[in-house]
Amino acid sequence: MYRSHTCGELREAHINKEVTLSGWVQKTRNKGFMIWVDLRDRYGMTQLIFDEERTSSEMMEKAAQLGREFVIQVTGKVIERESKNPQLPTGDIEILVAELKILNPSLTPPFTIENETDGGEELRMKYRYLDIRRNPVKENLMFRHKVGMKVRNYLSEEGFIEVETPYLIKSTPEGARDFVVPSRMNGGQFYALPQSPQTFKQLLMVGGMDKYFQIVKCFRDEDLRADRQPEFTQIDCEMAFVEQEDILNIFEGLTRHLLTEIKGVEIGEFPRMTYADAMKKYGNDKPDIRFGMEFAELNDLAKNKGFNVFDQQELIVGIAVPGAASYTRKQIDKLIEWVKRPQVGANGMVWAKYNEDGTLKSSVDKFYSEEDLKAWAQETGANAGDLILVMSGDANSTRAQLSALRMHLATELGLRNSKEFAPLWVVDFPLLEWDEETNRYHAMHHPFTSPKPEDIKLLETDPGTVRANAYDLVMNGNEIGGGSIRIHDKETQAKMFDYLGFTPEEAKAQFGFLMDAFQFGAPPHGGIAFGFDRLVAILGGHETIRDYIAFPKNNSGRDIMIDAPSKLDDAQLSELHLKVTE
Ligand code: ASP
Repeated sequence: MYRSHTCGELREAHINKEVTLSGWVQKTRNKGFMIWVDLRDRYGMTQLIFDEERTSSEMMEKAAQLGREFVIQVTGKVIERESKNPQLPTGDIEILVAELKILNPSLTPPFTIENETDGGEELRMKYRYLDIRRNPVKENLMFRHKVGMKVRNYLSEEGFIEVETPYLIKSTPEGARDFVVPSRMNGGQFYALPQSPQTFKQLLMVGGMDKYFQIVKCFRDEDLRADRQPEFTQIDCEMAFVEQEDILNIFEGLTRHLLTEIKGVEIGEFPRMTYADAMKKYGNDKPDIRFGMEFAELNDLAKNKGFNVFDQQELIVGIAVPGAASYTRKQIDKLIEWVKRPQVGANGMVWAKYNEDGTLKSSVDKFYSEEDLKAWAQETGANAGDLILVMSGDANSTRAQLSALRMHLATELGLRNSKEFAPLWVVDFPLLEWDEETNRYHAMHHPFTSPKPEDIKLLETDPGTVRANAYDLVMNGNEIGGGSIRIHDKETQAKMFDYLGFTPEEAKAQFGFLMDAFQFGAPPHGGIAFGFDRLVAILGGHETIRDYIAFPKNNSGRDIMIDAPSKLDDAQLSELHLKVTE
């Protein structure tokens, strides 16, 4: 028996008990006549004491050799501590050690195994197994487990069945590149790893499973923008005989359940916003609505006043920044510089201060009277003390730029409180999205998403305006989940592939199995997938998903601990019928 108790378990009530503990040496304090050792495991920390008067000299010597992270086993008596440590749950007691066994010595770890470590990110990732011994990482993994269990239990209670779907499949179009796996037994042929289980979950509906879910790994070979991982986890779901409303209800219920159970936050009905409104009011399809600063379009108020820059633009749009009228010239210039950075890409920005005394002053006083500026203030909802910032240009990029500024300012002003949760549904996404590069429409969600029946006729005349039965769950400026009601008949699906530029042969080769299945009584169905890593990070109050992944990859998609990806040797290559050209 390695242990009778864990290192987090013993209390005053255990005094005089004989116990055995196993764990890692966190630290030792050696006063010569007395040695203290902090012994740690996943459950906590217990102090051990070796005392010259009560411990054999042989054991004193052995204890003196213990180094950080040695794995040891001790047996001894629980005694009352002389100086108690109220910070530690086990702080009332210590173990007077009678037997000490070194189970495994340890090299000195390359960074300290403390809550605040001296190890940089790179080093900690290389020795991630040591990093995981640290409380913050350990607690994040336990938190992830807790969220996962709540999700499983909730969905299971709601009648969902967890079904596993294969990883070695064929391309699923979620808009990224596939990771591919060469087949040894089928020379020259490749599997693709799933970007999501999309087609399989639809086939499970054809198979009559009715309510499916899976906490599942997905793989997307994308350029890794900030805080993305090439492999990530989804809570993937699908339901048969449902309309959009049914799906929103169930998954709003799940989200509310998680917020209550995990954060103790009660949230009423989630607001819903159309995609068009989200873009107009926030310049973004995943608006952070924890704070205001809604966009106000100023075309009518700001054009034809002699200010050339505005006259020529498609869109003039502003926001009121609360309490920022007191910003100095220098602070405002800094903001202007910020929007001009290539990452944001604006040409410039106009400002107007609505001073505390009710006067207004702007960077374009030459063209706009105080009356004009008052009208801007009214439109943007600015109060005395606020700063109005205005950008202009073509509608899409200006909205994106102002959205970036809005988020930047909210962070600066401390309006993005991680203890606050503001979920909403964004609905009525466009079905198609124009792609400048290929000069073609792409499915905005994926090609299995159904158009709104009332918009179908527009497919011929104005495809860009066709709305889809597609929805996203957004929280605190993040997309938590997204899904759609699917097409479930062969004709519509074939038509959709046609719109998306697939020839019938290509469609058949890639998705023939799905269209075949649709001919055998496919029920109406729809679903959603939540990004599990992101959901956990938001509930946990952290910004990065990496903090909640046991073995994450770095920004270039590498696992620096195991050093992957790596080369294959020639024998393996030839067995896989592969030749490497670089
Ligand atoms: N497969 C979709 C995705 O990964 C989710 C869905 O439509 O259910 O985004």
